[in-house]
Amino acid sequence: MNGYEDVCSICHRTESVAGKMLKMSDAMCICMDCLQKSTDMLNESPYREMLGMDPSSLAGMFPGMVPGGTEGMNPSIADADRQLNNKDSNEPDQKEEKKEESKQNAPRGTFFLNLNDLMGGNINPRTKIKKRSPGEKREPIIKLKDIPAPHKLKAKLDEYVIGQEEAKKILSVAVYNHYKRVATDTMDEIEIEKSNILMLGPTGCGKTYLVKTLARLLDVPLAIADATALTEAGYIGDDIESVVSKLLAAADNDVDKAECGIIFVDEIDKLAKKPNSNHRDVSGESVQQGMLKLLEGAEIEVPVGATSKNAMVPMTTVNTRNILFICGGAFPDLEEIIKSRLSKQAGIGFNSELKDKYDKDKTLLHKVTTEDIKKYGMIPEFVGRLPIICPLDSLDEDAFVQILKEPKNAILKQYQKLLELDEVKLVFDDSALRAIAKKAKEKDTGARALRAIIEEFMLDIMYEIPKDENIGTVTITGDYIEGKGGPVVEIRS
Ligand code: ADP
Repeated sequence: MNGYEDVCSICHRTESVAGKMLKMSDAMCICMDCLQKSTDMLNESPYREMLGMDPSSLAGMFPGMVPGGTEGMNPSIADADRQLNNKDSNEPDQKEEKKEESKQNAPRGTFFLNLNDLMGGNINPRTKIKKRSPGEKREPIIKLKDIPAPHKLKAKLDEYVIGQEEAKKILSVAVYNHYKRVATDTMDEIEIEKSNILMLGPTGCGKTYLVKTLARLLDVPLAIADATALTEAGYIGDDIESVVSKLLAAADNDVDKAECGIIFVDEIDKLAKKPNSNHRDVSGESVQQGMLKLLEGAEIEVPVGATSKNAMVPMTTVNTRNILFICGGAFPDLEEIIKSRLSKQAGIGFNSELKDKYDKDKTLLHKVTTEDIKKYGMIPEFVGRLPIICPLDSLDEDAFVQILKEPKNAILKQYQKLLELDEVKLVFDDSALRAIAKKAKEKDTGARALRAIIEEFMLDIMYEIPKDENIGTVTITGDYIEGKGGPVVEIRS
């Protein structure tokens, strides 16, 4: 059909496992085993008694419930009923006759319930799983020749991401190696360690942006999850496996595609062990514990088309062995831990250095070791499963100015393009760029602040300019950004 497998809405087995399905509606299928079991159950005495009651009273409660056999039923359900009663025959000319027969065969007072109606018709019709043929060697989703070499990947990243040279290099190599293993399927043969990545860097320095750009360049599905929302299974919050269902959704429910995707878990530092806590820690350390098997590679049963498991959603199995996990976090006090380790080392022996040597060291984060991360509160098993550590720098004003104008999709270019459609030229002079960068730096939220600042003052420009058709050029100056003057407007010649 469309390459997607049907899934039994009762036992959640797929078509390839459970065999032919009866289609009840667009979103509901039932396998022969479940259908048989349900009718057997209905024939047992307690249910029979129950069904002996006047079905029309129940039918009034639910719009999809049809009393009394197949007459007046939802056509797809009627069809299911017919198939149930006449498993061997579907000849069109015999249909009418069989229908009559099936009416007689149906237990008295049998009614049918369309579960889709019960849920307000809200079952997602996309809860289908891409067909997989068992045993057959599948075409690899990622081909070796399609994976760009690290230097090419980095060059592509350079077009979008400013600075972060070391991070771009580490990521390019790690991602290249990872997908090389996936494409050649050599993970098992030589037992190469999975190259999951831990990104460290202050907020707004481009962690999420780097991962998003990578996934787009490689054309692999990406799921972004927030570690603070995750809790141990059974507690309020998303359980850990929900990150895999997010990835499955990003891959259009194609299990093969999802299995070579990327999962980015942000705010991972918030999972650090809390010292001296007597409470059961359901969202910190135990989430780290729960993530271990995902990071290493495990068969995870996930709901399709939903993030929580319940009886109404079909399930499928996703293997996380080839999924690249990237964890990111700001680790706010990590620099202190690194500093104290380094000063301790430096303070011993004849070559002892000044203790405050590291106070102004901007590259402190690049000297991080796994020991420091463990000391921060991440459990050793967790750190061990993220073998690649990728530190990012905090961005300075110069970098902000570059971010404003240089990337392929730079914010300024976007506004210029918008006004170009009105045949107006938008110019930002250097003082304006500096003023925006300075304002953003004060906010201390990294490059994220840039867009908010620009949007604030561009609102007036975007509102006023289309009013006057004579305007040819608008120049934004530093004074305008600082609220000391207006933009310089030139009339079309
Ligand atoms: P975080 O490190 O907190 O995950 P983000 O990656 O979400 O930060 O960055 C927020 C926004 O700032 C991004 O959407 C992007 O537009 C911009 N940005 C951040 N860092 C850079 C960078 N190095 N180069 C270009 N744009 C960046």
